Amino acid sequence: MCLFCKIIEGDIPSNKELEDENFLAFHDINPKAPVHLLVIPKNHVDSFNEVGPDMMASATSFIQKLVKKVNIDKSGYRVITNIGDNGGQEVKHLHFHILGGSKLKWGHFTDADTKGSF
Ligand code: AMP
Repeated sequence: MCLFCKIIEGDIPSNKELEDENFLAFHDINPKAPVHLLVIPKNHVDSFNEVGPDMMASATSFIQKLVKKVNIDKSGYRVITNIGDNGGQEVKHLHFHILGGSKLKWGHFTDADTKGSF
């Protein structure tokens, strides 16, 4: 069973923020912003490559509800999903990073990116 499936099962503890029948949102253990949440589907999907349109539609509604709950909907935030090795995906269970709570910078994405943006 993968790490995030163990979190869904409750075998590994997490700091939960919101949950419904299809998704769980919890705080990232290594936050990159004042608000850093992870949204995961309860049914295991490896990555964005495998997700279907129905799950994406319900993920959208869930994320919109979540950002209102943590009060970053008006101030702004970023939704990121890393895919595969080049995308930097460490946990092979689809997850959306929700980052906010302060002005976000645009990162250095590759070694060739010396100015911090492409
Ligand atoms: P990614 O690199 O896109 O696969 O993101 C995986 C994320 O999971 C990282 O931001 C980690 O900090 C986070 N993470 C790993 N283990 C845990 C955990 N037990 N609880 C909360 N977040 C975790």
